[in-house]
Amino acid sequence: MDCIFCKIVEGSIPSQKVFENDSVLAFRDIQPAAPVHILIIPKKHIPTMNDVADEDAELVAELFAAARQIAKEQGIAESGYRLINNVNSDGGQVVYHLHIHLLGGEKLGGLLPKSGS
Ligand code: 5GP
Ligand code: ZN
Repeated sequence: MDCIFCKIVEGSIPSQKVFENDSVLAFRDIQPAAPVHILIIPKKHIPTMNDVADEDAELVAELFAAARQIAKEQGIAESGYRLINNVNSDGGQVVYHLHIHLLGGEKLGGLLPKSGS
């Protein structure tokens, strides 16, 4: 399959892994937007959040469990962090393999571009 993140799961594209279990992989973003910028993905290819099925509920819970553990290990659980999932074009999704961005390690800027308008 022609998917960058599937290739990272297979190991044919290298990555800086920070977490792995049977169903979830997390690695550092190649273009970090914050001191800590980690991508948390299911090993199974799911293109977007729109494609998550009811039977994936446990898998999605595992993505969040990984996020909690990684935040702790990176030392940012208490200072704080942000989890982001971009969906499709307006959401800014570039890689069509489900992923959660974990961002932290500094005071993050405002998230909602249109808030207040
Ligand atoms: P999206 O915009 O789809 O939510 O985010 C995709 C993210 O994947 C971007 O932040 C981008 O920097 C990251 N990315 C794209 N290609 C690679 C890669 O080959 N390796 C790693 N580690 N990150 C990548
Ligand atoms: Zn994939």
